[in-house]
Amino acid sequence: RADRALYKVKSSGRGSFYYHDDILDAEELKKRRLASEVRSAVQDSSLALAFQPIYDLKKLEFCGAEALIRWGNPQTPELQPNDLIRIAEETGAINEIGTWVLNESLSRARAWPDDLTLSVNVSPSQLGRGVFRDLVAASLSHHNVAPERLELEITEQVLIKDENNTIAELKEIQATGVRIVLDDFGTGYASLSYLQKFPFDKIKVDRSFVSGDSLGAQSRAIVSSIATLARELGIPCTVEGVESQQKLDQIVALGCDFAQGFYLSEPIKAEAFHFQKELMFFVA
Ligand code: C2E
Ligand code: MG
Ligand code: MG
Ligand code: MG
Repeated sequence: RADRALYKVKSSGRGSFYYHDDILDAEELKKRRLASEVRSAVQDSSLALAFQPIYDLKKLEFCGAEALIRWGNPQTPELQPNDLIRIAEETGAINEIGTWVLNESLSRARAWPDDLTLSVNVSPSQLGRGVFRDLVAASLSHHNVAPERLELEITEQVLIKDENNTIAELKEIQATGVRIVLDDFGTGYASLSYLQKFPFDKIKVDRSFVSGDSLGAQSRAIVSSIATLARELGIPCTVEGVESQQKLDQIVALGCDFAQGFYLSEPIKAEAFHFQKELMFFVA
């Protein structure tokens, strides 16, 4: 382009030039390249799933698993799930990815013992148009999985955009028997007002509250308050990011209902995932 600003590279001193726009574009180009990789990953089905087991602290057994997206193309540099999802949200590929995740995870979950639940993360941008509601109903019936076995995890940010339509769609999904879980609780703002606006079936405490070797006095106070809040609302709470026996014991003492974390099990590649409900953990 003729109108581009031309800058001299001062340090080289040998008359090298570059276009100002080119520098600005480097970020943009990287984003576009990643976006097209994400799109082709959806098309050549080079996405993968891992499942992380969820442990029932009252029954002392595994009771379900959360589906987590993984970069499945070994030819290209790995994209972390958070980045992958963010790029997908920015480019609109999230709808295709969300459809793939739901179908793929349900096709796996149908082979599990039928009292085990499947948790699937849902992005804000998938909701509000009624498309996701129809997809959930169709996938459940296609894979012959009872709606009661499916939990949809929504992060706090979800309800900010297009709140009324999102709430309406979530309620329609919930009415079919699917449970709606508030994920990463305590990290967004206005978390308490969300609890008032939408009847969540479960709260998942963000793992940032349980980082470190054991829970300090502050984290204990926070997790304990969330557990009390959940109890008074009449819903269970899950703590994610449990990395040690000590933390497991602490969250049991605080009255939490479910736990998830590397100490119990890391996410396992879908192909290698077989449920071992009887795997025991010692809870003090
Ligand atoms: P999330 O839904 O809160 O999932 C839990 C994350 O914590 C996962 O990270 C999991 O691997 C990690 N984790 C579990 N236990 C531990 C632990 O003991 N210690 C530590 N340090 N980490 C633990 P992951 O797989 O990287 O996913 C990150 C986020 O990406 C998820 O957070 C979720 O928000 C998003 N995500 C993943 N898969 C999907 C998907 O299919 N759809 C959408 N919309 N979002 C997804
Ligand atoms: Mg989650
Ligand atoms: Mg979470
Ligand atoms: Mg998260």
